[in-house]
Amino acid sequence: MKAVCPICPHRCALEPGQLGLCRARRNVHGAVTCENYGRLTSLALDPIEKKPLRRFHPGSLILSAGSYGCNLRCPFCQNYEISMEGPEAETVFLTPEELTAKALALSQAPPGNLGVAFTYNEPLVGYEYVKDCAALLHQKGLKTVLVTNGMICLEPLEALLPQVDAMNIDLKAFSRDGYRRLGGDLETVKGTIARSVGRCHVEVTTLIVPGENDSEDEMDAEAGWLASLDPELPLHISRFFPRFQMTDREPTPTKTMNALIQTARQHLRYVYSGNC
Ligand code: SF4
Repeated sequence: MKAVCPICPHRCALEPGQLGLCRARRNVHGAVTCENYGRLTSLALDPIEKKPLRRFHPGSLILSAGSYGCNLRCPFCQNYEISMEGPEAETVFLTPEELTAKALALSQAPPGNLGVAFTYNEPLVGYEYVKDCAALLHQKGLKTVLVTNGMICLEPLEALLPQVDAMNIDLKAFSRDGYRRLGGDLETVKGTIARSVGRCHVEVTTLIVPGENDSEDEMDAEAGWLASLDPELPLHISRFFPRFQMTDREPTPTKTMNALIQTARQHLRYVYSGNC
């Protein structure tokens, strides 16, 4: 029986046995299941600033877990080795109980640990794992952090938000065409940001790709819209370096970075530069 995945706006309609576009979810006997559940490709204790989150428990460390799969196809992906992978990825299996136990043990000895950040690939294609872990982490008094592209449908987002403490959400462009080129949808990502602000700590990241989203007008519109939600919402403006399928252009010029940071600062109190 065909089944429609409810997690992201692609709404993949999958034949029995078929994998979704994200390569992490599959129709198994008529139900879309999270095939990357508990399958971790990376696990590291990172500074929270590396997520990047600058205004959420600064100076702390957080256990950072990644799996495989993504529901966007950004040609400049910095983590394409795992985000573009599918079931063939080399992984280690950790149940939510095992991941929580690891996070708890790390939190009880120096240098400490805040909880778990779901990051590296797009965590929300592994929605059920993130949700199960988040519930256990909260029971133990630990934090749940998401580093996400924000391409999630409203219903699953609303069900998850009460168990999320902080998010860094990518806003990869501020135009419909910019998102279409990445296989995404601007309005969905704006909706995720708008719904999450005020419900958990939110910071936003925009990678500036020369020739794609580097105009001052686009940044002016983006920062103005973010400020309409909360002028204290931190924005990370990140520098592009050639990677994956986008090796045809130079890194973002420092002059462009500085100009866009100044533009954003006309609207927002906390604007940070990344990868500089
Ligand atoms: S999460 Fe994956 S399977 Fe589900 S709709 Fe999105 S791309 Fe398709």
